[in-house]
Amino acid sequence: MNIDITEEKLELTEHFLNGKNIWFKKDHNIKYDTFFKTGGIVKILITPNTTNELSIIIKYLHQNSIKYKVIGFTSNIILFDEIQYSVIISTCNLKKISIGEDSIEVDCGYSLQDFVRIAIINGVEGYEGLEGIPGSIGGGVFMNAGAYGYQIATNIISIQYIDEFGDLNTINKEECKFGYRTSFFKNSDRIICNVKFKFNKSQTNQDIVKRVERYHIARHSYQEFAYPNLGSMFSVNTDFYRELIKNESKLFIFYYYILKIVTKNPVIKFINRKSPNSSALNWLILKKIQKTKYSPSRKGMNVLINNGQLSTKESFDYIFEIKRRLGENFHIENESILGPIYKIQPEFNATFQEISNYLSTSSKEKAK
Ligand SMILES: Cc1cc2nc3c(=O)[nH]c(=O)nc-3n(C[C@H](O)[C@H](O)[C@H](O)COP(=O)(O)OP(=O)(O)OC[C@H]3O[C@@H](n4cnc5c(N)ncnc54)[C@H](O)[C@@H]3O)c2cc1C
Repeated sequence: MNIDITEEKLELTEHFLNGKNIWFKKDHNIKYDTFFKTGGIVKILITPNTTNELSIIIKYLHQNSIKYKVIGFTSNIILFDEIQYSVIISTCNLKKISIGEDSIEVDCGYSLQDFVRIAIINGVEGYEGLEGIPGSIGGGVFMNAGAYGYQIATNIISIQYIDEFGDLNTINKEECKFGYRTSFFKNSDRIICNVKFKFNKSQTNQDIVKRVERYHIARHSYQEFAYPNLGSMFSVNTDFYRELIKNESKLFIFYYYILKIVTKNPVIKFINRKSPNSSALNWLILKKIQKTKYSPSRKGMNVLINNGQLSTKESFDYIFEIKRRLGENFHIENESILGPIYKIQPEFNATFQEISNYLSTSSKEKAK
């Protein structure tokens, strides 16, 4: 693999940022800052305070052909302990918000969870389904995040973004090509800066509060929250377990349904209502995945957890096996960040290659 930056360019970048008074951290270990609690040293982690600073940075990086990666709250990305990254830009300080008569403008680094709170206190509906999605506005718009039948795109009016040359543009919702977990910003160098949402007040906010409460409780019951994780690995809108075992023998599938009836019937569901889990079904399916050392979340096998015990290789062997079982119609939602690279641990080379081959096959399948 290629190293994405020279020492000289790193020094020049530091000099440039110091000259412009733009905040950055040098040689920052990002591991414990990330949602998944993984990641190596970042040579230059830039945290701009304004859209204007962001634009200046992108212009500079573009003119000097320096690669970079933008991150929000890292709740959908896997950074690797074995990689030292060169330049990463975090949007965490871009948090301006201004509420108008019937619209609200919010910067990309604002939290989705706080945004739901702002909607509640202003009696605005349409954002309840974003409750509990732990990302930023920018990360949410990038992949058109949503749940419970809601999508962040629904109430968008327009978006201000910085293009790959560092120039600021504004586009309306129709130009954003929103689809299921996708947008015009995916697979591009465009950075979402500010989003204008409809903010139409409803008559009463009691129903809004009830819905937010319902979604919050559902997430707390059904979602893994003890171990670091990135939500659902694969986007599967049918029965995930059924998809996992679809190529097993009829006898195995029969056992699966018996176990499901025994462990997921209404009485057991009621008894386990405070801590629902899929441990029994996991146990059965894991017997078929003999080579994995991975021990999945009790909440479900479609969540990758970091239990602090496994190597990257072991975690990815599990992902590869799940993908093999699901087949080419299902794609991983969690994004692996393989660059920009400053250094990489030599013993990680083979795994790095395996992951990048997997990602390129997967993106070809997606494009079909
Ligand atoms: C427990 C849990 C539950 C979750 N539940 C859901 C769910 O119900 N529905 C759902 O849709 N997602 C869910 N997610 C996934 C995740 O929270 C969302 O995808 C979220 O929108 C990611 O936002 P982020 O700020 O963390 O982005 P990051 O993870 O930091 O980045 C994700 C991608 O967005 C890009 N990006 C970030 N900010 C910008 C920007 N300003 N401009 C351009 N690109 C940008 C990054 O480059 C990266 O490619 C869940 C995650 C967890 C951990």
